[in-house]
Amino acid sequence: MNTKLQELADLMFPNVTKTIEDYEKMYPERDLKEGACVTRFAPSPTGFVHMGSLLSAFEDYKVAHDTNGVFCLRIEDTDQKRSVENGIQGILNDLKNFDITPDEGMISETESIGNYGPYIQSERMEIYHTFAKYLVLHDLAYPCFCTASELDETREIQELNKERIGYYGSFAKCRSLTIDEAIAKIKAGEEFVVRLKSPGNFNSKIVLHDEVRGDIEFPENDLDIVLIKSTDKLPTYHFAHLVDDHLMRTTHVMRGEEWIASFPIHDQLFSIFNFKKPKYAHLGLVMKIDETGTRRKLSKRKDKEASVEFYHKEGIPKEAVKLYLMTIANSNFEEWLDNNPKGDLNEFKFDFKKVSASGTLFDVSKLFNISKNYLSKQSAVEIYNNLLKWTEEFDKEFYDLLVKYKDYSINIFNIERENEKPRKDYISYKSIREFVFYMYDELFENIEYEQAKITDKEEIKKILDVYYNEYMDLNDKDNWFIKVKEMCDKLGYASNIKEYKKNPELFKGNVADVTGLIRVALTSKNNTPDLYEIQKLLDKTRIKERFEKYINC
Ligand code: GLU
Repeated sequence: MNTKLQELADLMFPNVTKTIEDYEKMYPERDLKEGACVTRFAPSPTGFVHMGSLLSAFEDYKVAHDTNGVFCLRIEDTDQKRSVENGIQGILNDLKNFDITPDEGMISETESIGNYGPYIQSERMEIYHTFAKYLVLHDLAYPCFCTASELDETREIQELNKERIGYYGSFAKCRSLTIDEAIAKIKAGEEFVVRLKSPGNFNSKIVLHDEVRGDIEFPENDLDIVLIKSTDKLPTYHFAHLVDDHLMRTTHVMRGEEWIASFPIHDQLFSIFNFKKPKYAHLGLVMKIDETGTRRKLSKRKDKEASVEFYHKEGIPKEAVKLYLMTIANSNFEEWLDNNPKGDLNEFKFDFKKVSASGTLFDVSKLFNISKNYLSKQSAVEIYNNLLKWTEEFDKEFYDLLVKYKDYSINIFNIERENEKPRKDYISYKSIREFVFYMYDELFENIEYEQAKITDKEEIKKILDVYYNEYMDLNDKDNWFIKVKEMCDKLGYASNIKEYKKNPELFKGNVADVTGLIRVALTSKNNTPDLYEIQKLLDKTRIKERFEKYINC
């Protein structure tokens, strides 16, 4: 071993006591079945998850679970500017709302599970330094003392001469310092970063394989990138990625497409250490078409649908969000869902080949549609229980009513439900109130009625009186309608719509106008589920009260 290099490495990393071999032993290859994938979601502790990152966490989770592998949550806090207080807990909560729970990694602000930790980068300092020291010892990394203004100057020259920007070749000034010079500078207290002594040649081409995009050709990396920063001695993303994903035995790195440009750097780092390379999948951006018709990245600042909390607050069932995420994750999922209406995600396997490389369009209306379908298939009791949970957090007034009138509420939710073709009106738990509020007297106090077809006050009073006193039969649905039609004939309304259409002038209106009037009087709305069922649940006394209220309004 070169004693000069040893002296330099010891000066740069005085606290390193372990070797890479020590860590290899501490974090051995995982004993997993053939084909099992180890994935990780690696956010900064920013306190929340954006829809795009929820999608990638979901994909990480799915790939690991499809293959009986491991899904880790690693917190990347090397850029301290991006950390917020309780930033990990916020992320965990967002993930938990969608049942995306890590098998390994951080499980609270301070605790973790698994044998490959610490899972928070700021606590892995010693490990990074051990790996960096190894590179210095092998003359594969060096200290760089260039100041910010020197680096700016280099950049200006490069811009002026239209040369590639970066620290490489003859621009990599500190690369040519002698070991003695470097040692002297450190001893004099000069600040330094640790840079890779890149063995690459920009004029050579390499082909790297991406699981989504296939083979991609790049120039070899020749940048002497920073591995360890100067002030806090934390690693850069590039170096932390190498160390962490190697030691955590990650098999699949799934990350945003913004990292494609760094792919050659990462490949080179793995080669230098002679580590087994993980497979890479660079995922496309999540886009939206905005009001002006422009396709752009979903923005957490501008778009409310970009925050995952939005779905929780709106009461979109997490299962529906996950089904939707799967439709944007894999292009063949929608067809699968059509053929597998139960939509059990465990039965669908994630396929890298079905990921769109060009980015996916986030379409809230499609999500709402999936949600509608999903909710229509729930039983009345399931709707009740889930709604109870949601309202407890977000709508206390409705929650209290649901508690007070449990069986009654379940009966309401059961109207036109639990059959072959269930009614699809609820979009979310939040929306249910607007579809059923009229069934609760407490919510029917200061309501505005929609306009019924029949508007004459006297006529309204007559119809409702005659109906209530003479024709209302709530013992049997068929009979109920027969009686309504009889009443229509008696009062001058066509009981047969076809006949009405032939000669409308012969009638005051038709049976639909009459049932429409009853509907508005009872519910305030022109459009509701089955009127007979509604009346059954309201029962006679309340029907009477509501007719009176309507007549007097
Ligand atoms: N912390 C990185 C990010 O948020 C993670 C990228 C990766 O998954 O490797 O973009």
